[in-house]
Amino acid sequence: MDKLKGFLKYPRREEETITVQERVKNYQEFTHKLSNEELNEQGARCMDCGIPFCHSGCPLGNLIPDFNNAVYKNDWKNALKILHSTNNFPEFTGRLCPAPCESACVLGIIQPPVAIELIEKYIPERGFQEGWITASPPKTRTGKTVAVVGSGPAGLAAAQQLNRAGHTVTVFERDKKVGGLLRYGIPDFKLEKRIIDRRLAILEEEGINFKTDTHVGVNYEIEKLKEYDAIVLCGGATRKRHLPIPGADAKGVVQAMDFLKQNNEVVDGLSEPTEDLHAKDKHVIVIGGGDTGSDCVGTSNRHGAKSVINFEIMPMPSESRTNASPWPYWPFTLKTTSSHEEGVERNWSISTRRFITDDKGKLKSLETIEVEWVKTESGAPRLQEIEGTEKEWPCDLALLALGFTGPENTLSQQLGLEVDTRTNIKAGDNYQTNVPNIFTAGDMRRGQSLIVWAISEGREAARSVDEYLMGKSFLPTKGNGDLPAA
Ligand SMILES: Cc1cc2nc3c(=O)[nH]c(=O)nc-3n(C[C@H](O)[C@H](O)[C@H](O)COP(=O)(O)OP(=O)(O)OC[C@H]3O[C@@H](n4cnc5c(N)ncnc54)[C@H](O)[C@@H]3O)c2cc1C
Ligand code: SF4
Repeated sequence: MDKLKGFLKYPRREEETITVQERVKNYQEFTHKLSNEELNEQGARCMDCGIPFCHSGCPLGNLIPDFNNAVYKNDWKNALKILHSTNNFPEFTGRLCPAPCESACVLGIIQPPVAIELIEKYIPERGFQEGWITASPPKTRTGKTVAVVGSGPAGLAAAQQLNRAGHTVTVFERDKKVGGLLRYGIPDFKLEKRIIDRRLAILEEEGINFKTDTHVGVNYEIEKLKEYDAIVLCGGATRKRHLPIPGADAKGVVQAMDFLKQNNEVVDGLSEPTEDLHAKDKHVIVIGGGDTGSDCVGTSNRHGAKSVINFEIMPMPSESRTNASPWPYWPFTLKTTSSHEEGVERNWSISTRRFITDDKGKLKSLETIEVEWVKTESGAPRLQEIEGTEKEWPCDLALLALGFTGPENTLSQQLGLEVDTRTNIKAGDNYQTNVPNIFTAGDMRRGQSLIVWAISEGREAARSVDEYLMGKSFLPTKGNGDLPAA
């Protein structure tokens, strides 16, 4: 195999998928595995640039050329050690990250970039398969206690780092099971929940305590939380955005997260499906064209919807980079997900005006109008309706995938914490709030974001907590690696 000219010799490979007809029959992941040799070749495509822009494109500072090189050399154990040194959960990011690293890959200027995310997915898979990923509990305990509120990727990363530093860590989660949006937002066809469970087994064996069905400030008193030496708030930002138009309270207008959460619980055997949150034989319209909207499309097709339509208020993005986002920046280009490929009619520059109901208050259609964004005199963009483009669409189920407006603010109020204008909890560069022993990370601090950022913030916050408790910390700073977990 040729590393020197690998980028010229070997084309970028993606995983092939099973047919749409087959995959929509269930909620399982649906890709065919690449062979070991094919993966070695993908590693060989990395040019090991003098200045690896991919490395700074990654919010975790993953040491990308190093693990690519190890995979090229077929040294998977070393690749795992390198990857784990900056990322606690590469099996999540390897499946779900939008991969800003690949947008910053130097090879990407002239060719398809190195398949970094794909390689990142296969490294921990090999690690679990070979039994290299095992619990690594701390040798000694500091006697300090830390409470982590929220068990999404931010909370889990913070907990694992703080436990490694020797603190006694308890994670509080209001839901039945641990995982946050990884478990209750993202469908199984993107992330099978066994992937979360096998990592949780390691975290438990390392000595982290998990308390589920425990809603801090509701069925767990705030005063008890304050007994911990330090607190890390990782409660996410799940206050749903509404669509305040006529008919919004009709039976059949449903929040995307309610729909996705129930489906994930049904797939997990935790609950039974209910008619109002099921798409079978319905004309479904998903309002909102982001990740959540795409997950609703994939789920509706698996339910057996009669038709699936997607609306997005913004114009259709360009298919390739524009001058507004030159390399190595993240390009806002058209994204077609595997769920879109499974069947959906996508509409851009369209705004929903009202939901129309039958005489029993049940949704039967909705009315839209096309829109355009115009510049006002001050230069600010303004949405303008295009007269004469009104249209009525039959619809039995409208899914509102409009994102989140910020964290629910009960915790911040009860703990006396400052928040910003979007109700995100305010913290300094070291993730410390205005109350010295309370820290915050992930969506709860930065607003609705990405898994890679949640893991990155969880790790960074853990280091700050460790410094606060001990006066210094041996936990790593971003991109500098840490104690190998395997
Ligand atoms: C449908 C959907 C699809 C997505 N797809 C992707 C994707 O493909 N790729 C990607 O990178 N990102 C994706 N995201 C975004 C990503 O899931 C989030 O950015 C990430 O999960 C944030 O992590 P977090 O740990 O900050 O918060 P969360 O994952 O939201 O976890 C917060 C946890 O805190 C718990 N909690 C809150 N308050 C309390 C309390 N008072 N007491 C106890 N527990 C509490 C909540 O129950 C929850 O479990 C998606 C989001 C959604 C909704
Ligand atoms: S976590 Fe995301 S940005 Fe970082 S290396 Fe992996 S795919 Fe790239």
